[in-house]
Amino acid sequence: MTELLSELRPCDLALIALGANLGDPRAALRQARDVLADVGELQATSWLYRTAPVGGPPGQPEYLNAALSLATPLSPQALLLALLGTEALSGRVRLERWGPRLLDLDLIGYGQRALHTPRLTLPHPRAFERAFVLAPLADVAPGWRHPLTGERVQDALERADQAGLERLDERL
Ligand code: ATP
Ligand code: CA
Ligand code: CA
Repeated sequence: MTELLSELRPCDLALIALGANLGDPRAALRQARDVLADVGELQATSWLYRTAPVGGPPGQPEYLNAALSLATPLSPQALLLALLGTEALSGRVRLERWGPRLLDLDLIGYGQRALHTPRLTLPHPRAFERAFVLAPLADVAPGWRHPLTGERVQDALERADQAGLERLDERL
């Protein structure tokens, strides 16, 4: 079946960023990893990072961030629905922009696709400005180039402000 699906649609790699700062972030991130392994083939997983909150309300807890790459027959739109569904399963509710959350799953990139619709923008518009996304992403796809600017993940990480970022001795 998987072979048949991959013949139907070329399997570009999906790059997914994971974050959480409420409940048990480590468990939430790993549960999400396992759910995503059911909608594709995991290619690589990052280290875990403890990161200071960026934006949002003052005083929210530190985040745990990670990234993974996935080969999946799902379209970007279908994959986004799977990500939002996985967030909902974790119990996430959206109260305020960039507020604390049990689980956040962002589709950072999907091969070299670029698109802008009301529900999905690719690449994720803020990813290359955020060290908490770029550091784990550099573990799984250091040479991936931003489809619009051509910049590599590793180079973007090197120019990013990495204050408040701590790599843990544990993988996703
Ligand atoms: P940010 O987008 O700045 O990281 P956030 O992750 O807190 O903020 P959410 O409330 O999780 O924002 O998402 C709001 C909406 O963003 C989602 O419902 C989704 O439709 C939309 N969205 C657009 N592009 C993407 C993408 N590449 N990945 C994830 N969500 C996206
Ligand atoms: Ca996000
Ligand atoms: Ca999100």
